[in-house]
Amino acid sequence: YSAKTGGRGVVVYDPAIDQTSQESLSLLSELRRALERDEFMLYLQPKLDLASGSVIGAEALVRWVHPEKGFIGPDNFIPFAETTGFIRMLTIWMLEKTAAFCSELQLRGTHLKFSVNLSARDLMDQDLAMRFAEILTRYRLSPVSMCLEITESAIMDDPARAMATLEKLSNMGVSLAIDDFGTGYSSLAYLKRLPVDELKIDKSFVMNMEQDMDDARIVRSTIDLGHNMGLRVIAEGVESEAVWFLLRQMGCDQGQGYFMGKPMPVERFLEWLQHWRPPESLDQSENMAV
Ligand code: C2E
Ligand code: MG
Ligand code: MG
Ligand code: MG
Repeated sequence: YSAKTGGRGVVVYDPAIDQTSQESLSLLSELRRALERDEFMLYLQPKLDLASGSVIGAEALVRWVHPEKGFIGPDNFIPFAETTGFIRMLTIWMLEKTAAFCSELQLRGTHLKFSVNLSARDLMDQDLAMRFAEILTRYRLSPVSMCLEITESAIMDDPARAMATLEKLSNMGVSLAIDDFGTGYSSLAYLKRLPVDELKIDKSFVMNMEQDMDDARIVRSTIDLGHNMGLRVIAEGVESEAVWFLLRQMGCDQGQGYFMGKPMPVERFLEWLQHWRPPESLDQSENMAV
């Protein structure tokens, strides 16, 4: 299949590839083999409480370490995995790995909350909730120690079926988050009815909110909207201390971004946990008039 190497690395998936072509068949068999050969890796990115700087948990993000092509980011194979249905196996793998790590941490006395991303296809899977429940039971995890992130567009693909899955998950006690909020075509009528607890503001609004007044206004309004609907609000794409403080002033609950920590392999995440100290200026700014 076409492995184009641009300035930004390997592109494994080209949407122009015909789904039934030889190329796409071999990519699919490579993905299957990648699962068998354990080429996928669990990466974790910290999520923090913006007021105190304490660690709430982490988001689980997949990486593919291909034997020849090297490191491949999710944007280069997730869309293909979604159209072929392979994503369902990958999602189960991610849930399994994340649950295993979460329970290992709990045995060491550290209780954190981990989020895993779901795709539209996962929401169509009638068995997903049951399979996830089985994983939680096997690792003796309470559902509240896990959160599932779903984009607006994944839900709007087939709202009725998505809603059925989300309701099953929510009834199990699992937290649900709307990911990349503001980028999909969402309908507030649906948002109102969804059994979600958390709203994640897309990083495209957050990254430059310090310079871009429009972005700042969008972020502020989204925080208010989320809170008015009784949701926890988290901002992704926090790349500087200045943005952290701005978000905190606006009352945003949690943050995730390169400023606190990039996505990292499990061992590095453990080191990060040991060394993380909230910015010293956090205490001082508490008393500042804002
Ligand atoms: P996402 O779920 O919205 O994840 C956040 C993405 O933003 C991650 O990209 C993360 O590395 C990036 N990010 C976080 N903080 C910052 C920041 O401060 N600055 C910038 N510039 N970027 C930041 P990543 O890991 O490349 O993942 C991209 C997308 O791929 C994810 O977006 C998610 O939609 C999808 N994805 C990743 N892993 C999985 C998975 O296991 N299953 C599914 N279904 N999708 C996944
Ligand atoms: Mg996410
Ligand atoms: Mg996101
Ligand atoms: Mg995203």
